Amino acid sequence: MSVDVLAMENLSCRYQGHEALTEITMKVTAGDYVGIVGPNGSGKSTLVRAMLGLLAPDAGRVLLFGVPVTTFRQWRRIGYLPQSMRHFNPAVPATVEEVIRLGLLPHKRFPRRVGGKSDTPAVERALEALGIAGIRKKLIGELSGGQQQRALLARAIVGRPELLILDEPTTALDPETRERFYTLLGELHREEGTTIILVTHDTGSIGSMASRLIYVDRRIIFNGTLDDFCHSKEMTAFFGEASQHLICHRH
Ligand code: ADP
Ligand code: MG
Repeated sequence: MSVDVLAMENLSCRYQGHEALTEITMKVTAGDYVGIVGPNGSGKSTLVRAMLGLLAPDAGRVLLFGVPVTTFRQWRRIGYLPQSMRHFNPAVPATVEEVIRLGLLPHKRFPRRVGGKSDTPAVERALEALGIAGIRKKLIGELSGGQQQRALLARAIVGRPELLILDEPTTALDPETRERFYTLLGELHREEGTTIILVTHDTGSIGSMASRLIYVDRRIIFNGTLDDFCHSKEMTAFFGEASQHLICHRH
Protein backbone atom coordinates (compact mmCIF):
# COMPACT_ATOMS: atom_id res chain seq x y z
CA MET A 1 0.00 0.00 0.00
CA SER A 2 1.38 3.37 -0.87
CA VAL A 3 1.48 6.00 1.82
CA ASP A 4 0.25 9.51 1.21
CA VAL A 5 3.29 11.58 1.93
CA LEU A 6 1.37 14.77 1.30
CA ALA A 7 -2.30 15.55 0.93
CA MET A 8 -3.91 18.92 0.33
CA GLU A 9 -7.65 19.19 0.65
CA ASN A 10 -9.53 22.20 -0.69
CA LEU A 11 -6.74 24.53 0.22
CA SER A 12 -7.12 28.27 -0.34
CA CYS A 13 -4.61 30.96 0.63
CA ARG A 14 -4.90 34.74 0.55
CA TYR A 15 -2.56 37.64 1.06
CA GLN A 16 -4.40 40.78 2.19
CA GLY A 17 -7.59 39.76 0.47
CA HIS A 18 -5.87 38.71 -2.76
CA GLU A 19 -6.40 35.01 -3.41
CA ALA A 20 -3.07 33.37 -4.25
CA LEU A 21 -4.37 29.77 -4.26
CA THR A 22 -7.91 28.53 -4.79
CA GLU A 23 -9.26 25.12 -3.83
CA ILE A 24 -6.15 23.08 -4.26
CA THR A 25 -6.70 19.36 -3.83
CA MET A 26 -3.88 16.94 -4.55
CA LYS A 27 -1.89 14.04 -3.24
CA VAL A 28 1.70 12.94 -3.39
CA THR A 29 2.41 9.29 -2.63
CA ALA A 30 5.65 7.68 -1.49
CA GLY A 31 8.12 7.38 -4.36
CA ASP A 32 6.53 10.08 -6.51
CA TYR A 33 8.68 12.59 -8.34
CA VAL A 34 6.39 15.53 -8.90
CA GLY A 35 7.28 18.57 -10.95
CA ILE A 36 5.33 21.72 -10.14
CA VAL A 37 5.34 24.31 -12.89
CA GLY A 38 3.45 27.52 -13.63
CA PRO A 39 4.02 31.16 -14.52
CA ASN A 40 5.65 33.69 -12.23
CA GLY A 41 3.34 34.70 -9.40
CA SER A 42 1.06 31.70 -9.97
CA GLY A 43 1.31 30.58 -6.34
CA LYS A 44 3.99 27.87 -6.49
CA SER A 45 6.01 29.16 -3.55
CA THR A 46 2.82 29.81 -1.62
CA LEU A 47 1.85 26.19 -2.25
CA VAL A 48 5.20 24.97 -0.96
CA ARG A 49 5.03 27.16 2.14
CA ALA A 50 1.52 25.91 2.85
CA MET A 51 2.75 22.30 2.51
CA LEU A 52 5.22 22.94 5.30
CA GLY A 53 2.84 24.86 7.53
CA LEU A 54 4.88 28.03 7.11
CA LEU A 55 1.73 29.75 5.96
CA ALA A 56 -1.73 29.23 7.44
CA PRO A 57 -4.36 28.61 4.75
CA ASP A 58 -7.68 30.45 4.76
CA ALA A 59 -9.50 27.24 4.01
CA GLY A 60 -8.75 23.56 3.67
CA ARG A 61 -5.99 21.52 5.20
CA VAL A 62 -2.65 19.86 4.65
CA LEU A 63 -1.57 16.41 5.85
CA LEU A 64 2.06 15.30 5.99
CA PHE A 65 2.50 11.55 6.34
CA GLY A 66 -1.15 11.44 7.36
CA VAL A 67 -0.77 14.02 10.15
CA PRO A 68 -2.23 17.55 9.97
CA VAL A 69 0.67 19.90 9.31
CA THR A 70 -0.42 22.00 12.30
CA THR A 71 0.53 19.19 14.67
CA PHE A 72 3.25 17.52 12.58
CA ARG A 73 6.56 17.20 14.44
CA GLN A 74 8.67 14.70 12.45
CA TRP A 75 10.65 17.30 10.55
CA ARG A 76 13.63 15.01 10.12
CA ARG A 77 11.58 13.17 7.50
CA ILE A 78 11.54 16.28 5.31
CA GLY A 79 14.25 18.24 3.50
CA TYR A 80 13.39 21.71 2.24
CA LEU A 81 15.15 24.21 0.05
CA PRO A 82 13.33 27.55 -0.01
CA GLN A 83 13.31 29.63 -3.17
CA SER A 84 14.52 32.79 -1.60
CA MET A 85 17.67 33.24 0.41
CA ARG A 86 16.15 36.34 1.98
CA HIS A 87 15.74 34.56 5.29
CA PHE A 88 19.22 33.23 5.18
CA ASN A 89 21.75 35.69 6.55
CA PRO A 90 24.98 35.31 4.56
CA ALA A 91 26.80 37.27 7.26
CA VAL A 92 26.43 34.32 9.63
CA PRO A 93 30.00 33.39 10.51
CA ALA A 94 29.53 29.73 9.56
CA THR A 95 31.50 27.57 7.19
CA VAL A 96 29.99 25.46 4.42
CA GLU A 97 30.54 22.35 6.50
CA GLU A 98 28.83 23.86 9.54
CA VAL A 99 25.82 24.95 7.50
CA ILE A 100 25.45 21.40 6.16
CA ARG A 101 25.69 19.94 9.67
CA LEU A 102 22.73 22.11 10.67
CA GLY A 103 20.65 19.94 8.34
CA LEU A 104 21.12 17.09 10.82
CA LEU A 105 19.72 19.09 13.72
CA PRO A 106 16.16 17.72 13.51
CA HIS A 107 17.65 14.23 13.96
CA LYS A 108 19.08 15.02 17.36
CA ARG A 109 17.56 14.40 20.72
CA PHE A 110 17.99 17.04 23.40
CA PRO A 111 20.43 18.46 24.13
CA ARG A 112 20.79 19.13 20.42
CA ARG A 113 24.32 19.61 19.34
CA VAL A 114 25.97 19.48 15.97
CA GLY A 115 29.52 18.55 15.18
CA GLY A 116 29.65 15.04 16.60
CA LYS A 117 31.95 12.53 14.86
CA SER A 118 28.98 10.35 13.91
CA ASP A 119 27.72 13.12 11.62
CA THR A 120 30.82 13.04 9.47
CA PRO A 121 29.96 10.35 6.86
CA ALA A 122 26.62 12.00 6.04
CA VAL A 123 28.27 15.41 5.73
CA GLU A 124 31.05 14.00 3.53
CA ARG A 125 28.50 12.41 1.25
CA ALA A 126 26.56 15.65 0.86
CA LEU A 127 29.76 17.65 0.22
CA GLU A 128 30.79 15.19 -2.48
CA ALA A 129 27.37 15.00 -4.05
CA LEU A 130 27.26 18.75 -4.58
CA GLY A 131 30.92 19.05 -5.54
CA ILE A 132 31.75 21.45 -2.72
CA ALA A 133 34.22 19.41 -0.67
CA GLY A 134 36.94 21.80 -1.79
CA ILE A 135 35.27 24.82 -0.21
CA ARG A 136 34.12 23.20 3.02
CA LYS A 137 36.08 25.57 5.25
CA LYS A 138 34.97 28.74 3.49
CA LEU A 139 32.55 31.09 5.19
CA ILE A 140 29.16 30.95 3.58
CA GLY A 141 29.18 34.74 3.11
CA GLU A 142 32.31 34.53 0.94
CA LEU A 143 30.71 32.30 -1.66
CA SER A 144 29.06 33.07 -4.98
CA GLY A 145 25.31 32.66 -5.28
CA GLY A 146 25.69 29.30 -7.01
CA GLN A 147 28.03 27.99 -4.32
CA GLN A 148 25.68 29.15 -1.54
CA GLN A 149 22.84 27.41 -3.33
CA ARG A 150 24.82 24.18 -3.42
CA ALA A 151 25.64 24.42 0.28
CA LEU A 152 21.95 24.88 1.09
CA LEU A 153 21.06 21.97 -1.16
CA ALA A 154 23.59 19.83 0.65
CA ARG A 155 21.95 20.87 3.91
CA ALA A 156 18.53 19.84 2.56
CA ILE A 157 19.68 16.31 1.62
CA VAL A 158 22.21 15.55 4.36
CA GLY A 159 19.64 13.92 6.65
CA ARG A 160 18.42 11.63 3.86
CA PRO A 161 14.85 12.88 4.09
CA GLU A 162 11.98 10.71 2.88
CA LEU A 163 10.42 13.79 1.30
CA LEU A 164 12.47 16.45 -0.42
CA ILE A 165 10.79 19.74 -1.32
CA LEU A 166 12.73 22.07 -3.57
CA ASP A 167 11.56 25.49 -4.71
CA GLU A 168 13.38 26.49 -7.90
CA PRO A 169 16.68 25.02 -6.74
CA THR A 170 18.63 25.47 -9.96
CA THR A 171 18.17 29.17 -10.71
CA ALA A 172 21.60 30.15 -9.37
CA LEU A 173 23.43 27.13 -10.80
CA ASP A 174 25.57 27.02 -13.91
CA PRO A 175 24.53 24.44 -16.55
CA GLU A 176 27.11 21.87 -15.47
CA THR A 177 26.19 21.99 -11.79
CA ARG A 178 22.53 21.93 -12.78
CA GLU A 179 23.04 18.69 -14.74
CA ARG A 180 24.85 17.19 -11.81
CA PHE A 181 22.17 18.27 -9.43
CA TYR A 182 19.44 16.63 -11.53
CA THR A 183 21.48 13.45 -11.73
CA LEU A 184 21.73 13.47 -7.93
CA LEU A 185 17.97 13.96 -7.56
CA GLY A 186 17.42 11.04 -9.95
CA GLU A 187 19.68 8.84 -7.84
CA LEU A 188 17.99 9.80 -4.58
CA HIS A 189 14.65 9.02 -6.18
CA ARG A 190 15.64 5.71 -7.76
CA GLU A 191 18.08 4.30 -5.26
CA GLU A 192 16.75 5.59 -1.95
CA GLY A 193 13.10 5.93 -2.86
CA THR A 194 13.08 9.59 -1.87
CA THR A 195 9.82 11.32 -2.71
CA ILE A 196 10.55 14.55 -4.55
CA ILE A 197 8.49 17.67 -5.05
CA LEU A 198 10.32 20.00 -7.39
CA VAL A 199 9.13 23.49 -8.28
CA THR A 200 10.97 24.50 -11.40
CA HIS A 201 11.18 26.71 -14.42
CA ASP A 202 13.19 24.09 -16.27
CA THR A 203 10.22 22.83 -18.24
CA GLY A 204 12.63 21.36 -20.75
CA SER A 205 14.21 18.96 -18.28
CA ILE A 206 11.20 18.27 -16.07
CA GLY A 207 9.78 15.96 -18.72
CA SER A 208 12.63 13.52 -18.66
CA MET A 209 12.66 13.16 -14.87
CA ALA A 210 9.41 13.74 -13.07
CA SER A 211 6.82 11.00 -12.93
CA ARG A 212 4.08 13.57 -12.67
CA LEU A 213 3.48 17.16 -13.61
CA ILE A 214 1.30 19.66 -11.80
CA TYR A 215 0.62 22.92 -13.58
CA VAL A 216 -0.52 25.63 -11.20
CA ASP A 217 -1.98 28.98 -11.98
CA ARG A 218 -3.72 29.89 -8.74
CA ARG A 219 -5.70 26.69 -9.30
CA ILE A 220 -4.51 23.32 -10.46
CA ILE A 221 -4.77 23.50 -14.23
CA PHE A 222 -3.28 20.07 -14.83
CA ASN A 223 -2.22 17.13 -12.66
CA GLY A 224 -1.05 13.98 -14.40
CA THR A 225 1.76 12.36 -16.36
CA LEU A 226 3.72 14.32 -18.89
CA ASP A 227 2.43 12.01 -21.61
CA ASP A 228 -1.15 12.81 -20.71
CA PHE A 229 -0.29 16.47 -20.62
CA CYS A 230 1.26 16.36 -24.06
CA HIS A 231 -1.64 14.51 -25.61
CA SER A 232 -4.35 16.54 -23.95
CA LYS A 233 -6.45 18.56 -26.40
CA GLU A 234 -7.70 20.52 -23.45
CA MET A 235 -4.16 21.55 -22.59
CA THR A 236 -3.45 22.47 -26.22
CA ALA A 237 -6.49 24.71 -26.08
CA PHE A 238 -5.33 26.18 -22.78
CA PHE A 239 -1.70 26.81 -23.67
CA GLY A 240 -1.63 26.99 -27.43
CA GLU A 241 0.41 24.50 -29.41
CA ALA A 242 3.69 26.38 -29.15
CA SER A 243 3.77 26.50 -25.33
CA GLN A 244 2.62 22.92 -25.02
CA HIS A 245 5.36 21.88 -27.36
CA LEU A 246 7.91 23.77 -25.29
CA ILE A 247 7.05 21.71 -22.23
CA CYS A 248 6.71 18.45 -24.13
CA HIS A 249 9.81 18.71 -26.23
CA ARG A 250 12.42 16.39 -24.70
CA HIS A 251 15.99 17.45 -24.92
P1 ADP B 1 5.35 31.86 -7.60
O1 ADP B 1 6.22 31.16 -6.62
O2 ADP B 1 4.56 30.95 -8.46
O3 ADP B 1 6.10 32.86 -8.42
P2 ADP B 1 4.19 33.08 -5.23
O4 ADP B 1 3.56 31.99 -4.46
O5 ADP B 1 5.48 33.59 -4.76
O6 ADP B 1 4.23 32.69 -6.78
O7 ADP B 1 3.18 34.32 -5.26
C1 ADP B 1 1.81 34.18 -5.63
C2 ADP B 1 1.10 35.53 -5.55
O8 ADP B 1 1.05 35.97 -4.18
C3 ADP B 1 1.83 36.64 -6.30
O9 ADP B 1 0.85 37.51 -6.84
C4 ADP B 1 2.63 37.33 -5.23
O10 ADP B 1 2.84 38.67 -5.56
C5 ADP B 1 1.75 37.18 -4.01
N1 ADP B 1 2.53 37.09 -2.76
C6 ADP B 1 3.48 36.19 -2.49
N2 ADP B 1 3.99 36.35 -1.26
C7 ADP B 1 3.32 37.40 -0.72
C8 ADP B 1 3.37 38.07 0.54
N3 ADP B 1 4.21 37.68 1.51
N4 ADP B 1 2.53 39.12 0.73
C9 ADP B 1 1.66 39.52 -0.23
N5 ADP B 1 1.56 38.92 -1.43
C10 ADP B 1 2.37 37.88 -1.69
MG1 MG C 1 8.20 31.07 -6.34
